Amino acid sequence: MDVSLRPAPDIDPSRLSPPPGPLDRPAQATAQEALSFGAEPEDGAFGTAAGPESGEDIAVCIGGPLGTPVTPSKEEAAERVRELEADAPEADDYPGGSLNPLYWVATAQHRLDLHGAKQALLEAYKAEAAEGSPTTQAIFEAAEREGVQVVVLSDEEYAERYPGTGGVTVGETVYVPVSALESGEGVLEHELVHALLNGSDTLFDETVPLDDRVAEARELFESIGLDADDGERLIRSTEGMNPVDADHVQTYVTGIDIHREQAGLPPLTDAQRDTLYEQAAIRETALGVWRHGVEIGGEEVSLAGLGENDLEFAVKIAQMSEQELADFAAEVEARWNETSLAGEYPLTGDTPLERLQEIRDLVLRLQDEAPLQQYWQ
Ligand SMILES: [Zn+2]
Repeated sequence: MDVSLRPAPDIDPSRLSPPPGPLDRPAQATAQEALSFGAEPEDGAFGTAAGPESGEDIAVCIGGPLGTPVTPSKEEAAERVRELEADAPEADDYPGGSLNPLYWVATAQHRLDLHGAKQALLEAYKAEAAEGSPTTQAIFEAAEREGVQVVVLSDEEYAERYPGTGGVTVGETVYVPVSALESGEGVLEHELVHALLNGSDTLFDETVPLDDRVAEARELFESIGLDADDGERLIRSTEGMNPVDADHVQTYVTGIDIHREQAGLPPLTDAQRDTLYEQAAIRETALGVWRHGVEIGGEEVSLAGLGENDLEFAVKIAQMSEQELADFAAEVEARWNETSLAGEYPLTGDTPLERLQEIRDLVLRLQDEAPLQQYWQ
C-alpha cells in the first residue's frame, strides 16, 4: 500500500487552479465501469511504522497498489469515503480517552479503511474517465510513472483549505475534494497536467534559451504520450506568459482533445492546433489578469471576484474606499502591463479608474470563448 505522509504545504496562490465552471470545461464522462471496495488492511499494518498516522493527509498513488479491488461505481466509492469520514473513532467513547490503546488501534484501523476507500474511489474515477480517451489514459499513466500523489480531502476540509478552487496542485501533489472525483468534471485530469508540467523547473523559465525549452517540451510531451509538436506549440505560444497561465493553455487544449475523443470527433489538424494554441494563449493571458488577486483590507479581490455584470461591478467598487480602489487599480494595471497584451492594446484612460475599466472590458472580451468554439465541435 503506497502511503505518503507529508505536512500541509505552503500554498503559492498563483498555483491554485480556478474552480470548475465556465473557466474549466468539464470533460464528458460516460457512466460505466465497476471497481469495488474491500481493501483489507494487511496483517500487522497497524501502528506508526506502516499505517498512516492520525492527523496527517492520506495520499493515494495515481497508479494504485496492485490488486486494488474493483468497486461498483465512483458514486458508491465516494459514499463509502463519506461514511468512513463521518465515523472516525472518538477518544471520548473509550475509557481513559485518548490514552486507551484500543482507541489507537481503532484510529489506525479507521485510517487504513479510509485510505483503501479513497484509493478505490480514485481507481473507479480513473476507469470511468479513461473510457474512450487515449489522452486521459496517457495522462494517468504518465502521472503514475512520475509518482504523482493525489490527496483526496473531504469536501469540508477541502473548502476550508483551498476556498474558491476546484482542485489544487502543489509541485507534484494534487489535492482534490471527494466531490471532484464523484462528479467526473475533469478536475483530476486538469490538475495532473499541472503536476506533469510542474515536474520541470525550466519549461517556462525565460532565462533559459527558447530552443532548449522547446527541446525539453518536445521530450516531455513524447514521454507523456502526447504529440511532441504540441510541446513545441505550447512553448512558442506562451512566450511572455507566467507559468500558471502557460499551464492553462495546455489544460485547455487537453480538455478539447479529451472532449473530441470521448465524443468520437476526428482529431484536430496540425493547422488547427497551431491556431488553437495561439488563441488559447490570448484567452489564458486575459484570464490571468481577470483572476489576479489583490489583497484589499485583508481580503483577496480580483476582477473575477467582482463579477461579469457591469452594475454589480460598479456597486462593489463603490463600496471600496478611495485608497483601496486606487491600490486595486494599480495592482491590476501592473499585472496587465506584465502581459504581452499590454503592447497590443495600449490603454488610453487618464485616471487609474478609467484604465481599470478599460482593462476589465478588454479582458472580458479576450477571454470570450466564441473564437474557440470551432475546436470543440
Ligand atoms: Zn489549473
